Amino acid sequence: MHPKISIILIEDEMNICNFIATALKTSDYKLTIAHNGNDGLSLITSQCPNIILLDLGLPDIDGMEVIKSIRTWSSIPIIVISARTQEHEKVLALDAGADDYITKPFGTSELLARIRTSIRHSNRMTIGNPLNTRPYHSHGLVLDFEKRIVSLNGTEIHLTQIEYKLLSLLAKNSGRVLTYSYIIGEIWGPYADDSNNQILRVNMANIRRKIEENPAEPKYVFTEIGIGYRMLEDEM
Ligand code: CA
Repeated sequence: MHPKISIILIEDEMNICNFIATALKTSDYKLTIAHNGNDGLSLITSQCPNIILLDLGLPDIDGMEVIKSIRTWSSIPIIVISARTQEHEKVLALDAGADDYITKPFGTSELLARIRTSIRHSNRMTIGNPLNTRPYHSHGLVLDFEKRIVSLNGTEIHLTQIEYKLLSLLAKNSGRVLTYSYIIGEIWGPYADDSNNQILRVNMANIRRKIEENPAEPKYVFTEIGIGYRMLEDEM
């Protein structure tokens, strides 16, 4: 028997709360709900959940403040649930430390996939976890992080240093969205100009030409317009 994965949902809209409670009922998750930010923060402090689902538009404090407050002491995965379709809000939430986002309205399978990805990612980040160095594997694409080899259906793909760094960053975070500024900071360093995505787009176009059958309709690395890139989830 392993302990149930616990989830805290901070959301003031009753119909969303009910929908999520129903969606998670058949899964083996323990769900606790708070209807405002302050109750949510005290629940998180007392229960230390495995995942936090957070609405950005709360009645008492702004969801962004909740993210910033949690991130001063914890790296518990936060998935933002938002009706706000503005990419800007999502980017701000991600750059403030949220792990991912889901936009209302969403379906059960999308919700479960986001939760699964966040759990898998936080397990993978655990120091000493062998998953950390295990190759990425999905639909014939393999990235071996130890040997630094990329192959597609058994054939080695030659990438430049930057292309390899970029693809392996996405692969290690597969299933999660990474913002343009996060990627630029990781690949080109903290002093890189992240206001210009041109160098990133050029490298991504080159990677797609090498790994995608049809670069215009990618199946490995997806563009989330105005936000960043998300790589197809690892098969494991
Ligand atoms: Ca709300």
